[in-house]
Amino acid sequence: MSVLDSILDRVRSERQAGRVALVLFDIDSTLVSTKPRNAAIAREFAKLGGSIHPGVAELATVTADEMGWLVSDALRARGCEDEKVLQHLMDFWATRFFNGASLANDVPVPGAVEFATAVHEAGGLVYYLTGRDAPNMGQGTVESLGRLGFPLWRGRVVLHLKPTRSLGDREYKRAALDDVRSHLATVVATFENDPGNANLFAEAFPDAVHVWMQTECAPDADAPGDDLVRIADFTRS
Ligand SMILES: [Mg+2]
Repeated sequence: MSVLDSILDRVRSERQAGRVALVLFDIDSTLVSTKPRNAAIAREFAKLGGSIHPGVAELATVTADEMGWLVSDALRARGCEDEKVLQHLMDFWATRFFNGASLANDVPVPGAVEFATAVHEAGGLVYYLTGRDAPNMGQGTVESLGRLGFPLWRGRVVLHLKPTRSLGDREYKRAALDDVRSHLATVVATFENDPGNANLFAEAFPDAVHVWMQTECAPDADAPGDDLVRIADFTRS
C-alpha cells in the first residue's frame, strides 16, 4: 500500500472511531508548483531588454521546467555572471513572487487536488499551513486554491497564513503548531517541501507520518531526518 493510501486509511479509521484526523499541508512546492510563477516573473524581467545583459532578453522564452529554487539560476545558465544584474533580477522577483497577483500562475503538483479532496471526503480536516503572508497574498491564495479545486470554504478546512511577511518561516510554523493542536484532532500526516519544517513537524507529532516533498527547496536547507517519507508528487500509481 502506498503511503498516501495508508494515510487515507488512517483518516477513515479515525472517523470510524469518532475522531477527526488532521492532515497538514504546506502550499508552495508542496501542493502547488512555484515554477510557473518563477518563469512568468523571469519572462517579465526579460522585457527590460538585453542592454543590461544579453542573457536578460533570452529569458523571454524561459519555461517553467527550467526553474529551480533560484530564478537567477536561469539567468546564470544564459551566461550572466554579473552579480549586480543577478541581484537586480532577485529584487525584481521578490516584489512579484510575494504578491497575490502572481498566484494566478499557480498549478497543482500532480495529484495534489485529488489527494487533498480524498482526505476531506474521508472525513479528515485539511489544514493548509503556508508561509504566504496574509496581507499581500491572502486574497490571491484564496482565489488560487478555489480556482484549482482544492477543498475550501467549508467545514474541516483551515487556511493558516503568516500574519506578516517579515516573520521568519520556521518561527511562524513553530508558533502555528499551537493552533494546529487546538483542534483536538489527531494529526495523522504532514506534507512539506522544506526539510527543516518537516523535521519540526516530525518532532511535534511523533505518531504521524511526515512527508518531505521532493520538489525543490533552498540549497542551504536543513538535512532531512531519516524518519521522513519522501515523495515527489501525489500520484498514486
Ligand atoms: Mg513550501
